[in-house]
Amino acid sequence: MLNGKTALVTGSTSGIGLGIAKALARQGANIVLNGFGDVDGPRAEVLAAGEAAGARVAYHGADMSRPAEIEDMLKYAASQFGRVDILVNNAGIQHVASVQDFPVEKWDAIIAINLTSAFHTTRLALPGMLANDWGRIINVASVHGLVGSAQKSAYVAAKHGIVGLTKVTALETAPTGVTCNAICPGWVLTPLVQKQVDAKAAALGISNDEAKKVLLGEKEPSMQFTTPEELGELAVFFCSAAANNVRGVAWNMDGGWVAQ
Ligand code: NAD
Repeated sequence: MLNGKTALVTGSTSGIGLGIAKALARQGANIVLNGFGDVDGPRAEVLAAGEAAGARVAYHGADMSRPAEIEDMLKYAASQFGRVDILVNNAGIQHVASVQDFPVEKWDAIIAINLTSAFHTTRLALPGMLANDWGRIINVASVHGLVGSAQKSAYVAAKHGIVGLTKVTALETAPTGVTCNAICPGWVLTPLVQKQVDAKAAALGISNDEAKKVLLGEKEPSMQFTTPEELGELAVFFCSAAANNVRGVAWNMDGGWVAQ
């Protein structure tokens, strides 16, 4: 379905971004990976996922808190594959503390990586998409783009912000072949959440498995984690022709979290 298209997925060396990159590669899209840590492993996984469909894979290590590096990454993507057709703004970090104790540098980093980076990638990718009259911008927000949780001020502010950016981008592109939508996952068992499981286990003196149940029980009636594979399939749907007129939605995949 996505042969000849190019997808840039930020923060795709791990977790949800990697799951989305694999799902898009499986549909034939060439992928530009981004993120920290091991690159060879994720690159091999995405190549394997896209092999049958002939997808190619490139990587750029831009730090998403640095606008100049983001600009360089967009230029690199164009030099590798000609254009960015699908932009998945996924890179994100978390820090948990009450507002009065929240470290100022953590606040700044979360706003920069989880929100401002999406403004930069979007403003840089849009001209090419509009010139081609086709594009998909998928912002990985969170249930925390729709509701709050204590101890997560910067994260909730950034995620509400990216849902707002999604709506405005969708409105400005509404008469065109470019769409912009947000995905709002509940708990997904990635390294970002494993840290919170570990903290819960340590605080309550319980096992890892018990801590996972406590975490799910607080928020998700389904008592199930959403998976990166499921989120990847939702991204594929947003890229399909059936989603041509899906614009500005914030689609939660959250085991019932925000239905309560
Ligand atoms: P993760 O920690 O597994 O992956 C985060 C990715 O972002 C990694 O590839 C990491 O290298 C990259 N990254 C971090 N800082 C970066 C920076 N400055 N520049 C470039 N890349 C950077 O986390 P995840 O759970 O897969 O989270 C991905 C997205 O999904 C985030 O935006 C997160 O807020 C969102 N999300 C996660 C959950 C969850 O339960 N895990 C729920 C809702 C939303």
